[in-house]
Formats: sequence, structure tokens, C-alpha cells
Amino acid sequence: MNAFTELGLNAKLVRNVSAKGYDRPSTIQAKAIPLVLSGCDLMAAAQTGTGKTAAFTLPALQVVKSLGRPGPKDVTCLILTPTRELSAQIADGLRAYGAGTKVYSQMVCGGVNIRPQIRNLARGTDILVATPGRLLDLLGQGAVRFDHVKMWVLDEADRMLDMGFIPAMRSIHAALPKQRQTLMFSATFSREVEKLA
Ligand code: AMP
Repeated sequence: MNAFTELGLNAKLVRNVSAKGYDRPSTIQAKAIPLVLSGCDLMAAAQTGTGKTAAFTLPALQVVKSLGRPGPKDVTCLILTPTRELSAQIADGLRAYGAGTKVYSQMVCGGVNIRPQIRNLARGTDILVATPGRLLDLLGQGAVRFDHVKMWVLDEADRMLDMGFIPAMRSIHAALPKQRQTLMFSATFSREVEKLA
């Protein structure tokens, strides 16, 4: 399998990955990272534990960095996940892999006060990690804009379906620009997931 340096990631990201103690990319990382960096859309089957979080957060950090700072309330990369736990895990990954890159990422989930989230979104977000319900709420309140989203990541799409997030996802999808890069990860690819894709 390739070394991280051969996947097209910049030196800082490779250093951050080495600092985590990863010697080599996992299969999903070796396959997905070059494709995401080249701007492709992606549909990938990957279970938790395969290293899929780094497979999309590493190239997302690099792509977003090259696009410049977002305007007020704007989001450059939107990562949608079904649960708070998964969001927190991705946010942790972004912090570790993105150390020293000055890429501004944050997470918005339900069950906590919405006011600080509204405040933090006001200055614009490079990478936003969110669960669908709270994100729609924030969108409805005008706290966030999707007009300049360049990359949309759907993580654990099959669980999104199981948890009844389809209507929320449709509303979010409708608010996104047509021109964007889309990455979809799912542990299973049922007919429903394929229909969603
Ligand atoms: P994930 O599938 O994204 O939930 O990752 C599962 C675990 O594998 C996490 O604890 C990561 O820190 C770890 N991990 C991710 N990529 C690698 C890698 N290339 N080498 C070793 N461990 C990794």
C-alpha cells in the first residue's frame, strides 16, 4: 500500500498523521484520498474501524485550505453524520489532523444550547460537522448559509436512513449549491442507500 506522502497530501498533514502514529494509509484511505483531492465525487463502502474518518477529513482539510476563508455564516465543507458521538469523533479527527493548518472547524448537534452555535457560525466555518435536526434548525433561523458549500460529506448514510433523517436530508440537499463535490460513506449499500445516492 502507498505511503501517506504518495497520496498527494501536503507535508503538514502527513506530519500530523505521523504524529498520530499511523505508519501507512488503510485501504479506504489509499483509495479515497487521491480521488477526493482530484475533485471526484465518491461513494464508498466502509465500516467504522477502517480509518474512514481520516479518508475524508484529511483531503477535506487540504481542499478547504486551498479555497480561502469563508464569508460570514458561510460553510465551505459540510459533514453530515447521524449522531452526536460520531460528530464528536470527526471533530476530534479534524483537530488532530488539522493541527497548525488554521482551518476552522466546528460541530453543531442538538441537545445543547443553540445560542453559542449561532454566535460561532456567524464568522464563517471552513468545515462544519453536524447532525441533521440541529443543522436544519440553524438554517431555518438564518444562522448559517449553504450558498458557498464546495464539499458535502454524508457519513454513515445507512444509519441516517434507519434513523429517519431522510426528510431532513432532503431539505439540506435542496439548500446546497448544485455545483459541489459530494462524498458518501455507508457501511452497507442497500437499495435504499443507492436510491438516496
Ligand atoms: P475510523 O474507521 O475512522 O473510525 O478509525 C478507526 C481507528 O483507526 C481510529 O482510532 C483511528 O485513529 C485509527 N486509524 C485511522 N487511520 C489509521 C492508519 N492509517 N493507521 C493506524 N490507525 C489508523
